[in-house]
Amino acid sequence: MKKIRVGFGYDVHKLEEGYPFYLGGIELEAAKGAVGHSDADVLIHAICDALLGAANLRDIGYQFPDTDPQYKGIDSKKLLKEVVQLLYAKGYKVGNIDATVALEAPKVNPHIATMQKVLAPILQVDEDDVSLKATTSEKLGFVGRSEGVAAYAVALIQEL
Ligand code: MG
Repeated sequence: MKKIRVGFGYDVHKLEEGYPFYLGGIELEAAKGAVGHSDADVLIHAICDALLGAANLRDIGYQFPDTDPQYKGIDSKKLLKEVVQLLYAKGYKVGNIDATVALEAPKVNPHIATMQKVLAPILQVDEDDVSLKATTSEKLGFVGRSEGVAAYAVALIQEL
């Protein structure tokens, strides 16, 4: 029987005025953007960590160190593509993803279909295998104060 494995990912980025806001592989119009060494796409980073975790390949910071200048400002879609390649090299493909992003603004729901279209081909799965959800934090905590954005993801991977 072919092996299946599950992984979990979590990421946070600080939000500040004057930065672009990349989420799920696209740029959203927002009063505040995410700060980070790469393009700070918190949703893709959580998905990368879920995939790496499922394959027991450590995490995104281990695979792509933020001390390495080649990753400065990098489009996180490229990191996700590399993660999928690492999975294939270890004998696995992506099964499905389920992720939740927690933030107060902007509204994410109108953009979910676009994000699925962008991420599915990189993950080499159907759009139906990329479940993306969004929630606010009911004004509580750092997410609720719009000081940051958090994302959680689980991923299933299957032996090739
Ligand atoms: Mg990150």
